Amino acid sequence: MSWFSGLEAIVRTDVPLRDHTWYRLGGPARWFCQPRDERELARLLARLRDAGIAWRVLGGGANVIIRDEGFSGAVIRLASGAFEAIRFEPEGVVVAGAGADLPRLVRATLDHGLVGLEALAGIPGTVGGAVRMNAGGRYGEIGRFVRLVRVMERDGTLVDRSASEVGFAYRHSQLAGCVILAATLSLRPGDAEAARRRHRAIWMEKYGSQPALAARTSGCVFKNPPGAAAGRLLDQAGLKGTRIGGAEISRRHANFIEAHDDATAADVLHLITLAKERVRAATGIELEPEVEIW
Ligand SMILES: Cc1cc2nc3c(=O)[nH]c(=O)nc-3n(C[C@H](O)[C@H](O)[C@H](O)COP(=O)(O)OP(=O)(O)OC[C@H]3O[C@@H](n4cnc5c(N)ncnc54)[C@H](O)[C@@H]3O)c2cc1C
Repeated sequence: MSWFSGLEAIVRTDVPLRDHTWYRLGGPARWFCQPRDERELARLLARLRDAGIAWRVLGGGANVIIRDEGFSGAVIRLASGAFEAIRFEPEGVVVAGAGADLPRLVRATLDHGLVGLEALAGIPGTVGGAVRMNAGGRYGEIGRFVRLVRVMERDGTLVDRSASEVGFAYRHSQLAGCVILAATLSLRPGDAEAARRRHRAIWMEKYGSQPALAARTSGCVFKNPPGAAAGRLLDQAGLKGTRIGGAEISRRHANFIEAHDDATAADVLHLITLAKERVRAATGIELEPEVEIW
């Protein structure tokens, strides 16, 4: 009997993860699990625990590189309607399921006359991924708006964590090791038309200086070190246009690595190592990846 007997409807084996990431690179997940609600998720986590299987949660796959050999554990994805709902409550409170598309949430809040999230224009992925990464940029981060994060712990317990418990910092939260189920955000009513114009302006600014949205990237590869911009350090190290196999450091923005048709995950990883070494040699600064490598 397999560890997932009775859960066959939601567990598949050897599923290519390239189909679920923006890089479209890398190998399969040994198990790919799509629970349909919280009860099923709790059952799944219990089975994984009993079987001693490592697991990870995949959101929209906009910030991960999957190695060519794939992931030998279980990948959990919250892609059913139960995890994607967005609910509006009085006084600017919005409860968004972790599986909801972040750009959809941004548009929905503007449609409801609530402002703030337009600062997140042009950031792909899910609400769960955005909360985990504290996604954002120079105009703001999602953590600023989050009041509560509902999570399922590894043992299946449900917990509401306050923003201070979550410890949001630059591209960081203390949410590793649990499944984010939903976030409660607090927004304010405001001039939605002005916010829409701001949203458009931020979007245009980004995609005027970054690779096209259709390019295969993970956004910025490295975090900005204190007091410096990783993109500028990479540019000053002469890395724009550097290529290994099918992976190339963007000529538009040096903190993006684009995957071309013939790229492998190993090409991207080698280029990350090379870029780190060049910046370290030129400046002594140790760049830290923002992208997660699975
Ligand atoms: C073109 C492009 C532009 C980008 N621009 C920006 C930008 O301006 N600012 C920025 O911050 N990022 C940017 N990114 C990166 C990416 O969009 C963000 O990091 C985003 O928040 C990732 O969300 P995701 O759902 O795709 O998460 P994934 O990439 O799937 O996962 C990222 C992390 O979150 C975890 N995770 C996801 N969902 C859950 C969950 N439900 N429970 C627990 N853990 C979970 C994963 O395990 C992983 O650790 C960009 C990416 C691209 C491709």
